Amino acid sequence: MRKPVMAGNWKMNCNNDEAKELADGVVARGGQVEDALVILCPPATALTTVNDSIKNSNVKLGAQNMFWEQSGAYTGELSADMLLSCGCEYVIIGHSERRGRFGSVDEEDAEALAAIFGDTDETVNRKVVAALAAGLKPIICCGELLSERQAGSTDDVVASQVKAALEGVSEADAANVIIAYEPVWAIGTGEVCDADEANRVCGMVRGVVAEVFNEDVADSMQILYGGSVKPNNVEGLMEQEHIDGGLVGGASLDAESFGTLIAVAADSAK
Ligand code: PEP
Repeated sequence: MRKPVMAGNWKMNCNNDEAKELADGVVARGGQVEDALVILCPPATALTTVNDSIKNSNVKLGAQNMFWEQSGAYTGELSADMLLSCGCEYVIIGHSERRGRFGSVDEEDAEALAAIFGDTDETVNRKVVAALAAGLKPIICCGELLSERQAGSTDDVVASQVKAALEGVSEADAANVIIAYEPVWAIGTGEVCDADEANRVCGMVRGVVAEVFNEDVADSMQILYGGSVKPNNVEGLMEQEHIDGGLVGGASLDAESFGTLIAVAADSAK
């Protein structure tokens, strides 16, 4: 039985005061929940603040990104050890907003311009391997662009992202991996992927994990869906066989909404 997960990706939102208020609100609503794994991923500047808020609760802390080297001349980057020292147990790796597939500094469009961070399948893999070696649990993101879905290549794109991310990961370490399927066209758009289709792709991801490792690893790996998860669509998603939870952006910024998502996830365990 896989424990349901509800992970909040706060992205670049919340200064320290706002982070404390939001984390306290989540703890008040879902801090003692035992049937679901609740993870908050605030911006790096608020990790210690949130860690303080969740210290007497079951809520876990995650970061939104990391670098694979342990230390050195990498201005602006954060190592796994630094994140561990802030209380992190989890780290999101390869979020589509950090993959460099659709951004260029020549772009006029603000969204495309923002997507210049440049993670590739190779850097995602390095980060995953470094996270696991340091004792952090990666939440590996995968997902297709709208153009890739329209071209019928969703499964190929997602499968190759997952295989690349897991390259060199041992079977023992795979027990500490969470995968989040996040179709890029559904993130922050309000356009949720149909629950049956999200389940089909998550099932396909599970099949890839079985190919890379074996059926036991695949059966126990938590695979999440992300992309406009909200209180009004979460039940349909959580009912699906292969969807073990959500990686949530927008709705995680409101303690009441996120509290509802946590409650639905916990109920789905029964
Ligand atoms: C995300 O940030 O991973 C995400 C899925 O965002 P949203 O829930 O806002 O679509």
